[in-house]
Amino acid sequence: MIDLEIKKVEKSKIDNYDLENLVFGTIFTDHMLIMEYKDEKWEKPKIVPFGEISVNPAMCSLHYGQLGFEGLKAFKTVDDKINIFRIDKNCERFEKTCERLCMPKVPKEIFIEGIKELVSLDRAWIPQKKGSSLYIRPFIFATEPFLGVRPSKTYYYMVILSPVGPYYKEGFNPVKLITSGKYSRTCEGGLGFTKAAANYAISLYPATEAQKKGYTQVLWLDGKEHKYVEEVGTMNFFCVIDGEILTPPIDTGTILPGITRESVIKILNDKGYKVTERRVSIDEIFEANENGKLDEIFGTGTAAVISPVGELAHEDKKIVINNGETGPIAKMLFDEITGIQYGEKPDKYGWNFIIE
Ligand SMILES: *Cc1c(COP(=O)(O)O)cnc(C)c1O
Repeated sequence: MIDLEIKKVEKSKIDNYDLENLVFGTIFTDHMLIMEYKDEKWEKPKIVPFGEISVNPAMCSLHYGQLGFEGLKAFKTVDDKINIFRIDKNCERFEKTCERLCMPKVPKEIFIEGIKELVSLDRAWIPQKKGSSLYIRPFIFATEPFLGVRPSKTYYYMVILSPVGPYYKEGFNPVKLITSGKYSRTCEGGLGFTKAAANYAISLYPATEAQKKGYTQVLWLDGKEHKYVEEVGTMNFFCVIDGEILTPPIDTGTILPGITRESVIKILNDKGYKVTERRVSIDEIFEANENGKLDEIFGTGTAAVISPVGELAHEDKKIVINNGETGPIAKMLFDEITGIQYGEKPDKYGWNFIIE
């Protein structure tokens, strides 16, 4: 057990909300976790009532963006337990983000036990409905009031919780993507493999342009040649060409190593599908479509789980995939993963972290 200070709310605000009809990431639970880093060490973590915090306007993360986060989910299982899916993987990835941004690592035990205690305390907020869950957002940011450019000496690590429904308004229905055009999300040697806030700031302008044209999200091509498919704003990319499942490799350092991506590859391999991690050019996808060999495209990520892609635009061309409907592989993967998450299917890979 970790040493944790808990200050509870006097009265829960849960009755003010309708947990049956949730929009992604708009409401927050009664409590949050906060831990301060100073004098080269972490202070004792505290769970306190959710609310505003006061910061110095010279705090360097506000100016230079030394800020990173994670995203994971807790589910209410069919046998009424709480399951935090693959929490150890999020902890590992958070360490990599912290390292790349010169921020101190949060000790694994504190990351895991802190989230466990917080979720346990706010368990009433985990929605019951299938497709809904409690989104967990750990984050770390530099707090030193200092306007020079160098790593901060002080930080806050915090965790907030948000009951959520489906990520896209489409739900588990196909989304429409458009390639990134002249924009780049990242490049080799950059921050692409981390959940650094900067990666999302850079995506806003192109994503807004895409939405104006009627698309849900941008499909990012590589930053060098704008030729190879990388990923979507918050999802990794998979396509099925002539029965073979393809996904771009993550060793370029330009793609976020998704935990859902890894889970999907594992499930597919186990079921005997051929999965190949290799670069896929946008031209190859359009050519496969022309030859009638493009079976499916889907994205994978914690927020949307599996998100089928029904339409894809690139330059002046536009294709409709699988008649704009969810394909069989996307459907199977959605059922498998959500089945494990909600405890309906056996957790044969040991992915569930159960809180009794
Ligand atoms: C979080 C994220 C993903 C998906 O990762 P998961 O671990 O599956 O949630 C993919 N791409 C980007 C850019 C992301 O931020």
